[in-house]
Amino acid sequence: MARRPFLPAAALAAFLAPALGAPLLAPHPLSAQMTKADVAGWLDARAEHLTDVAMRIWDLAEVGYMEKESSALLAGELEAYGFRVTRGVAGIPTAFVAEYGSGKPVIGVLGEFDALPGINQDRVPTRQPIEGKQAGHACGHNLFGTASSAAAMAAAEWLKSTGHAGTIRFYGTPAEEGGSGKVYMVRAGLFDDVDVVISWHAGDRNDASPGSNLAVKSAVFRFSGVSAHAAASPDRGRSALDGVEAFDFMANLMREHVPQETRIHYVITDGGSAPNVVPDHAEVYYYVRHPDSETVRSIFDRLVKAAEGAAAGTGTTMAYEVVGGAYARLPVVALQELVYKNLKAVGGVRYDDEERAFANALKKTLPAEPALETVTEIQPFAFEQTYASSDAGDVSWTVPTGTLSTATWVPGTTSHSWQAVAADGVSIGAKGMMVAAETLAFTAVDLFSDASQVAAIQAEFRERRGPDFRYQPLLGDRDPPLDYRVSVIR
Ligand SMILES: [Zn+2]
Repeated sequence: MARRPFLPAAALAAFLAPALGAPLLAPHPLSAQMTKADVAGWLDARAEHLTDVAMRIWDLAEVGYMEKESSALLAGELEAYGFRVTRGVAGIPTAFVAEYGSGKPVIGVLGEFDALPGINQDRVPTRQPIEGKQAGHACGHNLFGTASSAAAMAAAEWLKSTGHAGTIRFYGTPAEEGGSGKVYMVRAGLFDDVDVVISWHAGDRNDASPGSNLAVKSAVFRFSGVSAHAAASPDRGRSALDGVEAFDFMANLMREHVPQETRIHYVITDGGSAPNVVPDHAEVYYYVRHPDSETVRSIFDRLVKAAEGAAAGTGTTMAYEVVGGAYARLPVVALQELVYKNLKAVGGVRYDDEERAFANALKKTLPAEPALETVTEIQPFAFEQTYASSDAGDVSWTVPTGTLSTATWVPGTTSHSWQAVAADGVSIGAKGMMVAAETLAFTAVDLFSDASQVAAIQAEFRERRGPDFRYQPLLGDRDPPLDYRVSVIR
């Protein structure tokens, strides 16, 4: 194939245009028994049950590394179908791998199921938290895990019916939100024999464009000082909060001297307890992001220097702990073309009258654009740079990884909002979930049917990754922070 070097957004967009007209897949003479229409029918017949599973995970709303019941529910579904399930992989109790079939190719499907702390909302189109509930599915991971496991089962059904060689493997991946769960699974070598990975995410539109996002590295910086009476003997004290504040000040000055697309954000997670006590402990939690992983590494190192300088200048000491890290997503255009073709074939989301009324009510709390009708459309195929991060980035540098988003949310909804929680808990979210399940299942069928397509995807992947690439997790060699949601790790 023609050389396709990794290009910046504008140049990549330019070379995408001719690729769109290229033929995608040749039909395979052997895959006659179960057609894609049959695969869709198989999934449609299970829509009610799948919705029930997704809504149970929505109700559970378990946060990162604590998704005991959600993980068990999905693993149990796959096991009941006939998948071989291995639980507790990569040193993470809620991570699991479930596979069906044998031989090559090995197609992986990613499934998340963690909720977000500090946000919850009832299944209504106006702001209404559920009293006493600590977390909510504000990123649609209740739909994510369910659709991906359903797609894996549909692909298994197709393998069974056609007698094709191949392995479909579902990855139950915990703690996407800040816990970098997939990174530990990549580091443990769980993706080493996989040919292609497919994934998706909840969204407010149907899109299978070959985009990228931001690499991230996060850490908690802890300052230690000497406590004293803040009025009677301040000269005896050394304030750990001064250390944090001096550090934050330097980090904020640094913003002028970092590359344009850098993001640096922090929260002070411990600033002392009382103004009349000089705090002997203070702590600040930082994220650094940029489209390029190596740039993230170097900005993070400068941040550490600032923290060291702040400690020296305030007479305190500092120690930091890396909490998370992820690569930016590496897109593979040939794989996205395949996902896009299948998303087009499946089509968008169509609301019934009740859903339209719910969406219209929710829309009153959202921007007018994009219009509700966009849920029925598929977004044009074009390079997209987004500004969040995902631990799926590390998977995408290990195995060619394709993805899509579907309209599980009312247009104009952002992730991590109460409007997302609301839609994730009703049939609007479930309809988007079924679009994703069918698109992923179709894509798996295509990959099993045509070895040359898999080879072309892998060739492009190797080309983009470059010959000198060596995987070095941004989070280093730390163990999974299994208690990061109990308290910020101390
Ligand atoms: Zn998410």
